[in-house]
Amino acid sequence: MPFKNIVKALLEVKHTVIDKLSIEDNSLVIDVHPTESFRHRCGLCGHRGTFYDYGNGKGPRLWRCTDFEGHKVFLRYSTYRVYCPHCKAVHTCKVPWVAHGSRFTHKFEEVTTWFALQMNKSATSSYMRIAWRRVDEIASRVKDSIASTAGDPLDGLVNIVMK
Ligand SMILES: [Zn+2]
Repeated sequence: MPFKNIVKALLEVKHTVIDKLSIEDNSLVIDVHPTESFRHRCGLCGHRGTFYDYGNGKGPRLWRCTDFEGHKVFLRYSTYRVYCPHCKAVHTCKVPWVAHGSRFTHKFEEVTTWFALQMNKSATSSYMRIAWRRVDEIASRVKDSIASTAGDPLDGLVNIVMK
């Protein structure tokens, strides 16, 4: 298996191409970009739009991944804005490795939420090396994501019998 595919498998990212790995400030920084099928997607609704501009021009963004051997790991990519015909508005493009507006990858958020269910918030924030208030934000996002994909928990319910 090619090295970049091994990295992609470890990161558990989809629709993502690994471009380059580097060590910067004792962290592993992985330059990535979405696959062609995932480009120009609206960050809010996910529909395909058209390139609008580079937005604030702050350069590439970093998203935190789970640590590797004690080193922080980040994905790096320069986002841009798209005009979305569905929303009829300009939004930041969607990237496949994070929820819209998050600074943490899906896997990082799943791991953080799992720890938050096993231990208190202070221990979780300390272990994951994130701010205490981020634990709530992340757990809330994961809960909403599960709820939106799992559907109504009462779907298929036929009867409730009262005794
Ligand atoms: Zn949209």
